[in-house]
Amino acid sequence: MSNICPKSEKCPIFQGGVLKRASSEQIYRNLYCNAGKIKYEKCMRFIVSEKVGKPAPISVLPNSTKSLDDIISSMS
Ligand code: SF4
Repeated sequence: MSNICPKSEKCPIFQGGVLKRASSEQIYRNLYCNAGKIKYEKCMRFIVSEKVGKPAPISVLPNSTKSLDDIISSMS
């Protein structure tokens, strides 16, 4: 099984160029996207996307401390 998040192809954090610092994107990739299922399943972008069936807004970062409910209610 792949160690890479299955959402990576369409995920702006993974694709890069959206955060001010490219180094921050790289850190997220290392900690979540490329770190295997146990890690990418803890990414808040992944969790939101699984829950709502569409991509998480770009404002949601992998280590977001907002609750899932707060994020989802801010999307509607
Ligand atoms: S930021 Fe999260 S959802 Fe996006 S590719 Fe990385 S682990 Fe997957």
